[in-house]
Amino acid sequence: MNTDAYYKRIKSLFRPEQLRLKRAIVVGAGSGGSRVATELGRLGLPLTLIDLPGEKLEEHNILRHELGYASLGKSKVEELARHIHNLNPETPITCAELDVAMDRVEFKRLIQSQQPDILIAATDNYESKHILNEDAMAFGLPVVGAGVYDGGIAGECYITRPGGACFACLVTHLQLQDLAPKRSARDIDYSNLELKELQSTAALNLDIAQIALIQSRVVLNLLLDGATDLIGVPPEVNLIVFANRRVPGHFERPLHAEFIHFDRVPDCLVCSSQCASEIDREASRIIGALNS
Ligand SMILES: [Zn+2]
Repeated sequence: MNTDAYYKRIKSLFRPEQLRLKRAIVVGAGSGGSRVATELGRLGLPLTLIDLPGEKLEEHNILRHELGYASLGKSKVEELARHIHNLNPETPITCAELDVAMDRVEFKRLIQSQQPDILIAATDNYESKHILNEDAMAFGLPVVGAGVYDGGIAGECYITRPGGACFACLVTHLQLQDLAPKRSARDIDYSNLELKELQSTAALNLDIAQIALIQSRVVLNLLLDGATDLIGVPPEVNLIVFANRRVPGHFERPLHAEFIHFDRVPDCLVCSSQCASEIDREASRIIGALNS
């Protein structure tokens, strides 16, 4: 790989070495996560890719996934790493098959070993995002998450930072679940394909990719930390809602983004100072147990 030639067209925007000492953990290697990981990985950002144990690319994934038929029946995270390495052979990538909702100790162990600068929530349900939120608060990590509303009409990209509004605060304000697909992690039987299909968000690839690119941009902006501003909105913005199309009553303008800031909810059960310190103590206890 000729690094100078490879990065030639972006060198006026930022220096690739600004990303080489950072790391992002991407939770979810589905249609959104695969796209975010690819966009960031091609720029050389070290990545840790996580998806559910045994999660393989199936034919119904391909219409909306970064991977294609060559990866059919193969591990999503392993194939995604191969795909990214085809675009940038020098990107450091670690793969893990892990259910972050079910195996929280292992997820904490992974965070501790990988030392990420940011968590990327690319799962397709609110329950796992709540769990990521709690772990991010405990480790003092920012999270950039995204979701596509049912029908692909729009999507959201949220940013949480230590000390600011957490995901639970944002959800309390917005009740965006009303527009998200209805499901419960407890109800999902990952071995039951038919049920999984029923619970999958109906959306086109172009609906999902639009939101995933916004998510990628936000992650990049945070990691570049002011060296290059790829968005140009105030840093306190913690929610971007993008309308893919006009939906009277919900979104009056198509292809339009709203930039929103929400304060912390004072009595938020996750990030209020009392609870946060309790979570910190719990994280310390678990880390202590892991090290002993
Ligand atoms: Zn909160």
